[in-house]
Amino acid sequence: MQLKNNIYYYEGDYIRDKKIYRGFGSSNFLILKNNEQTMIDTGFFYGRHKERLWNELKKDRINIFDTKNIILTHYHPDHIHGAKYLLKKNVSKLWIHHDCEEYLLNDDFQFFSYLNFPTILRNEIFGLPKVIMRLFLIVLGYNFNYLRADHFFSSNEELVIDGFKIIPIPTYGHCYGHTSFYLPDQKIVFTGDLFSLKVFNGVLISNSNSDFDHGLNDIDALLSLDVEYLIPGHGQIIEGRKKIKDLLLNVKNYTIELKNEIYNLIKEHKRIKLSTIEKILFNNAGMNKYHLMVIIYNILKKLKKEKKICIKIINKNIWWETITGLDRD
Ligand SMILES: [Zn+2]
Repeated sequence: MQLKNNIYYYEGDYIRDKKIYRGFGSSNFLILKNNEQTMIDTGFFYGRHKERLWNELKKDRINIFDTKNIILTHYHPDHIHGAKYLLKKNVSKLWIHHDCEEYLLNDDFQFFSYLNFPTILRNEIFGLPKVIMRLFLIVLGYNFNYLRADHFFSSNEELVIDGFKIIPIPTYGHCYGHTSFYLPDQKIVFTGDLFSLKVFNGVLISNSNSDFDHGLNDIDALLSLDVEYLIPGHGQIIEGRKKIKDLLLNVKNYTIELKNEIYNLIKEHKRIKLSTIEKILFNNAGMNKYHLMVIIYNILKKLKKEKKICIKIINKNIWWETITGLDRD
């Protein structure tokens, strides 16, 4: 659908056809088109979702194979799968933040960034041996051997592509190198995976290299922009300054509240496992469960950094307990 002059927006779907993809959906993307054609993120081109997408593009008279530039928020497969598809058909330039470069060029970096947890905890979160996890991720699309970025940008460096002014805003809360894109002339911001209301209401710190503090600062950075359209990586567009401001504040506050809730739970139980926290607070199923467990893990890491809690390893299980709680009570 046309969002503004020469700017088109396409919403990604959740892939419901296969159980394996539960909670794992195609990202949204934008197409900018003056003389050349530029995509911001690409989503998945799969199954029924692809059919719908192709019809929408046709209605807007966009030929996706005319794309000359692809700009990526980050390197996760639900955002770049389409780029893999288009690059095979000779799209000329692939842009990404230079902090993402090594992740994009080396499958192993991807894999280890996704699974970089203490072994015991990885088993608790995923319940699968590393080699099976790797196969699982390859099935999900974590395989980038023919994806080669050839254009890199830095944070806050103003890019002008096909007459569009685009400012990359570093939003590393979600993962290292993750970038939101601000189009100041059109008052649009594309926020990638900084948050996804499809998974939960806070900052999407759902990777082993997500960062709690960065996530909260990222929200503040977005709050300081003059924006009329916020386009998240997943879910619907948010339109209007007040709605955008309220949403961002909600995302920030929810994240802070969740941290308090988790801390209170630990105090109450004195000693608790991560999976028990997930069960009590969310009791989720499918892929979202893994996201939520990792989000909880990142909050636990933050509480540990604040010296409020510590780790105890008992019978090959990681327990989280308050530092003062056990001694005091
Ligand atoms: Zn992501």
